[in-house]
Amino acid sequence: MKLKGRVAIVTGAGRGIGRAIAITLAREGANIVVNDIDLQAAEETVKIIKAMGYEALAIKADVSNKNEVDSMIKKTLEAFGRIDILVNNAGIFSSTLIENITEQQWNRIMDVNLKGVLLCSQAVIKTMKNQRFGKIVNITSLAGKVGGIFSGADYAASKAGVICLTKSLAKQLAPYGINVNAIAPGVIETDMTKYWPKEVKESFLKQIPLGRFGKPEEVAEVVLFLVSDASNYITGEIIDVNGGYLMD
Ligand code: NAP
Repeated sequence: MKLKGRVAIVTGAGRGIGRAIAITLAREGANIVVNDIDLQAAEETVKIIKAMGYEALAIKADVSNKNEVDSMIKKTLEAFGRIDILVNNAGIFSSTLIENITEQQWNRIMDVNLKGVLLCSQAVIKTMKNQRFGKIVNITSLAGKVGGIFSGADYAASKAGVICLTKSLAKQLAPYGINVNAIAPGVIETDMTKYWPKEVKESFLKQIPLGRFGKPEEVAEVVLFLVSDASNYITGEIIDVNGGYLMD
């Protein structure tokens, strides 16, 4: 087991990529805090993890709300006593045309996708600094590197922000033994992409050398690498998981 005795918080882990990450880290021995804005969904993930024989706790919090995030960290410390791993996965999607993006929509996307990463990271820094150990992984997106193609400009800009935030956190936290990296998935089969129009999916498929979309578990395995000791000398890196769509 690669993560025995470690404590991990995974945001937006009620379904999709977040759930796969929570299950994968639990399988490797970490105690998991399953965060989601939807408590019932988080509890479902906890049920799956407990049925596998591992430990997990569901905590409802909106990652864009500082009070709720701070309360989640307090509850985590009360339950498990330390925080070794934070995976900032919670996110919302948009495919709105640029001229139709409202100010309210722009603010919500930025609040959840970008400010949420800042708030959750800020909330664990003190604990990780005291431990002189921590691993933070942020889930950005291919769209954050190449701009919104089908994705909205608001979504792409929020994810580009996550890339720069990752590098800033990595530089500032490195002296304290905290590694900060990000993963930029391409198209992954989850509820987020399920309802994309057929022609959009076909157009993406033609540009993916591996010829298929990714699975949540294939993102989760890369998260596992980034939170395990195998990646101790990697920080500030953005890893593509996109079937070869973008090779940079
Ligand atoms: P998903 O299936 O929509 O799951 C996202 C989860 O995050 C949901 O359970 C959602 O809860 C939760 N969530 C939303 N807002 C939240 C908030 N404010 N606080 C806490 N939890 C919140 O999405 P996914 O496909 O697994 O995506 C996970 C991450 O990967 C996202 O950051 C996404 O942008 C990124 N990503 C996905 C793809 C892809 O192709 N799927 C590609 C690149 C990047 P509700 O269900 O209640 O909304």
